[in-house]
Amino acid sequence: VVAIDQVHKRYGALEVLKGVSLSVDTGQVVAIIGRSGSGKSTMLRCINGLEAFQSGSITVAGHDVQQEPTKLRELRKDVGIVFQSYNLFPHLTVSQNITLSPRITQGVKAADAEVIARRVLSQVGLLEKFDAYPDMLSGGQQQRVAIARSLAMRPKVMLFDEVTSALDPELTGEVLLVMEQLAKEGMTMLLVTHEMSFARSVADLTVFMHQGKIWEAGPSKELFERPTTAELQAFLASGV
Ligand code: ATP
Ligand code: MG
Repeated sequence: VVAIDQVHKRYGALEVLKGVSLSVDTGQVVAIIGRSGSGKSTMLRCINGLEAFQSGSITVAGHDVQQEPTKLRELRKDVGIVFQSYNLFPHLTVSQNITLSPRITQGVKAADAEVIARRVLSQVGLLEKFDAYPDMLSGGQQQRVAIARSLAMRPKVMLFDEVTSALDPELTGEVLLVMEQLAKEGMTMLLVTHEMSFARSVADLTVFMHQGKIWEAGPSKELFERPTTAELQAFLASGV
């Protein structure tokens, strides 16, 4: 459902992705790990059409990311992305935050959008916050609402970029639990994370990025137990 083939991406003279190839099957969970600046976020942003790239190709949920610039809206409907900062609208309630995009971009009727909001809020365990405002919620709860907002578009693939990195440790668990549940429900997911134990236990595949390349990749347990490259061994030993 995701096919990345020999993607090269430069910012000016800086080559950030140096021929990245990866394919992800429906229902697979892929963790992306690596040092700061190795290109993890850039790769996710390329998959979602948020960044252009110079060569190679990416196909996701039947969309050729570079070939169909006019169809970006359809691509983004099928591919949800959640960032470290949750960016909820503070003046809108939780349900309004969630129903906004389905109503505006997909023409879903208000009553139907509410049904969707209830469904996705139950999925993240926050149905009781339907009418709350974001500032009444904890950081972890806000991040779960951000995930619910993404799910309301019925994406085929979900991308997560360090969604727990801004959270206090005690709030990280509840967000990881939501993601684990999504994985169990069969959602195709690519997630950039520093939570190594989560990657190891939940991700089918873990990809280690280093200097703009996929340096090492494999079934998560094998990769963590038997890293073959010196770079991955050093990264894991550094306790990031
Ligand atoms: P982190 O773990 O810190 O989030 P990352 O692996 O996600 O790192 P990227 O954000 O993909 O790394 O950045 C890869 C490289 O590209 C870095 O050297 C970064 O400085 C550079 N870069 C990222 N965005 C831009 C931009 N908009 N313009 C110029 N350079 C950029
Ligand atoms: Mg990043």
